[in-house]
Amino acid sequence: MDELDLLRAADARGLNYTASLATRRVFPDAEALAGLAAFDEPLPVEGLCAAQTLQLLDERGSAATVVSNGPHYFGFVIGASLPAAAAAERLLLAWDQCASSFDNSPVAATLERTAARWVLEALDLPRDSAVGFGTSATACTLSCLAAARRTLLARQGWDFDRDGLIGAPEIKVVVSALVHITVKKALRVLGFGTAKIIYAAVDAHGQIDPTQLPPLDDCSILCLQAGEVNTGEFDPFAQLIAPARAAGAWVHVDGAFGLWARASALAPLTAGIEQADSWTTDAHKWLNTPYDCAMAICRDADALASAMNSDAAYSSASADAQKNLTLEFSRRPRGIPVWAALRNLGKHGVAQQIERHCRQAQRVAAGLRAAGYEVLNRVVLNQVLFRAASDEQTVAVREALQASGQAWFGGTLWQGRPAMRISVSSWRTGDEDIEALLDLMGELRK
Ligand SMILES: *Cc1c(COP(=O)(O)O)cnc(C)c1O
Repeated sequence: MDELDLLRAADARGLNYTASLATRRVFPDAEALAGLAAFDEPLPVEGLCAAQTLQLLDERGSAATVVSNGPHYFGFVIGASLPAAAAAERLLLAWDQCASSFDNSPVAATLERTAARWVLEALDLPRDSAVGFGTSATACTLSCLAAARRTLLARQGWDFDRDGLIGAPEIKVVVSALVHITVKKALRVLGFGTAKIIYAAVDAHGQIDPTQLPPLDDCSILCLQAGEVNTGEFDPFAQLIAPARAAGAWVHVDGAFGLWARASALAPLTAGIEQADSWTTDAHKWLNTPYDCAMAICRDADALASAMNSDAAYSSASADAQKNLTLEFSRRPRGIPVWAALRNLGKHGVAQQIERHCRQAQRVAAGLRAAGYEVLNRVVLNQVLFRAASDEQTVAVREALQASGQAWFGGTLWQGRPAMRISVSSWRTGDEDIEALLDLMGELRK
């Protein structure tokens, strides 16, 4: 099979898969999982046929996917792929561009610059901020926190790049008691030390309580969040950021999914967030681009560009070249699916997607209550946290739901007890899918 025939075959299989999203089991059954044994082959000494490799991948692989790209998936905060973004992604695969700099790919550099401008406008963040496109909120948070520490140390007269951490003034980090694990990971990898992290107390809803905020100074980083993973709650930014910055601290916001509320009628939840120093958000969650697509946004563009600079004699580039803004030196142009999604949705379309999911989450909460479940959060956003009458029933209902193959969401622990978590974040999820989920939840309760 020549290259074009092979790619046509791949496209045809991909299209068949996409066409079947609404009717597939959401989580693979035991037979499909057992079929994965087919991949347990020795590394071939002589190469095997490409067409047969594709066939194996589709026959055994497609069957064992989690259909998070379909309408019945409510796990984590995953989101599906918008057609406009998925289509752009397919063309990108043909281009196979390295998006490091203009010299590597004029089209990638141009479109990522446009996407950066649009993201700042959609999220209403300071327009001079640097926007680095990275593979995940985790990686982008790491970039922002590296810029934060380097900048705070420079203000103390310490050259972090030259002298590193040993002997440097200590940088104190304050995070929410409900901080996302990936922010802790970024802090750990950067060498802050998990035992040294200071946790700010949260109220009953999960927001940092401003009256209990630990003291901050000009050697402090404060990490806030827009969209707590269980509850969707937002920290009270207006009350926290102004005093933190007045004390000289750097404020970073993890807005992996919740920052997009700012692009909708729910923007008041984010009031004051624009005063922070840096923000992280994902496109692959609530904007519904394909993986892996996230952004590191930094008010002081030079701070990010200096911390993440990777210019070399053979590869120097502008300060806003993407290789100088996030971890990756070589990567696909992740900003292009963002550009395509924003171009296709427009400001109104983004707002409508966010608002619809939040309205659907309200409907989920009302339906669950009517079916006898206890809803544990205020449902300010797209996340519904709930439990059944007993811990045993909570676990049993979740397991039965997951085994049904008709929908999928995950469990969590909330205040030490098992709970269930529904996230409405897929453009494909219609109101009828919400009703089907509620019917199922009603039956499982019986
Ligand atoms: C998903 C998530 C992250 C991590 O994002 P990745 O893109 O998976 O690295 C961080 N914070 C919150 C609140 C999240 O929901």
